[in-house]
Amino acid sequence: MDLYEYQAKELFARHGITVPPGQVAATPQEARAIAAEMRAPVVIKAQVKTGGRGKAGGVRLAPGPSAAEDEARRILGMDIKGHTAHRVLVEKATGGFEEYYAAYLVDRANRTLLAMVSSEGGMDIEEVAATKPEALARIPIDATIGVDLETARLLAARAGLPEDVLDAVAATLVRLWEVLVEEDAVLVEVNPLACTSDGTVLALDGKITLDGNAAFRHDHAALADGSDDGGLEARARAKHLNYVKLAGQVGVIGNGAGLVMSTLDVVAYAGERFDGVRPANFLDIGGGASAQVMADGLEIILSDPDVRAVLVNVFGGITACDAVANGIVKALEVLGEARCPIVVRLDGNNAEAGRKILSDAAHPMVRVVTTMDGAAELVAELAAA
Ligand code: GDP
Ligand code: MN
Repeated sequence: MDLYEYQAKELFARHGITVPPGQVAATPQEARAIAAEMRAPVVIKAQVKTGGRGKAGGVRLAPGPSAAEDEARRILGMDIKGHTAHRVLVEKATGGFEEYYAAYLVDRANRTLLAMVSSEGGMDIEEVAATKPEALARIPIDATIGVDLETARLLAARAGLPEDVLDAVAATLVRLWEVLVEEDAVLVEVNPLACTSDGTVLALDGKITLDGNAAFRHDHAALADGSDDGGLEARARAKHLNYVKLAGQVGVIGNGAGLVMSTLDVVAYAGERFDGVRPANFLDIGGGASAQVMADGLEIILSDPDVRAVLVNVFGGITACDAVANGIVKALEVLGEARCPIVVRLDGNNAEAGRKILSDAAHPMVRVVTTMDGAAELVAELAAA
């Protein structure tokens, strides 16, 4: 679960990281009132779960209450990379600071935790990473040892931060590590990590991704955000389906994590012969592939605009293939016309009966294939067409 900036800053503050004083507003009038109470210039910041707000005009300075109201009016409702700003953070403006970058994250490829620190923080960190990798220190952290002051100071020094800020930054890096560990986050990022001329180190921005698997250990429920921008993942979650977005063109539905994972592999493999077609997403309908579950699943998969063909790969077990086939037929009745071809491969319990149900239904968009490789081949070809 990703947090909003203001929520991340709340957690930072709980762990002793300095953040500017601020409050969230949902209307321009509220923003004005907060600014008036602050009696100082403020920054108005769109609260959306995506980066690049500054470049999109979602972070604006306001010298006083009426400017705060105006800027809030401009930002509220703004669309930033598909996320609508329903709220703004009104924060006391910080002046005169250097911008650094600090993050800890799970480095899956190297099976470790990774610290990343840079002396060149701010809005162009992606570019720094791409064009000046030496300005971004990347250091693996042993989870059983963690980050103490000495390691933190080394991190900051390796990143090229000036000598006179090393101690203060190191103290913040240790606290940031505590946020990762104690809140069970898989990512904590501060960009910019600001150092003011009087030596204060503060988090001017914050990003936290909490590990949902550890939710039971925490009282983080208040941080959950029911709206979640109405994304497909949120819609799937509401229907108790496991949906994951990927970058390709083939929608994948299967039952059981193992089958779904191997389906992704065969689709990607077959796709190599068809313009590099790859899975666009996947949805695990689990054991009970009832008609309703299949309808919900197909509806979500077909709502992904990247999907150009769908592969339904089901191995009948306790839920037999004839039930699954009936589910697909009913799902297509509920959905009306499918907007792209659906390739179905059924195997296992009552596979013959299931295939017969589908061929009798003779839906123009449904193609039944008996083998998994054959189905992957056909779906890749259809998605590339
Ligand atoms: P992002 O673009 O989504 O990463 O949003 P940030 O919160 O990082 O803000 C973008 C940029 O706005 C930062 O890199 C800062 O340069 C600037 N900024 C943010 N807060 C303040 C502030 O209090 N004072 C000043 N002068 N600039 C700020
Ligand atoms: Mn930022």
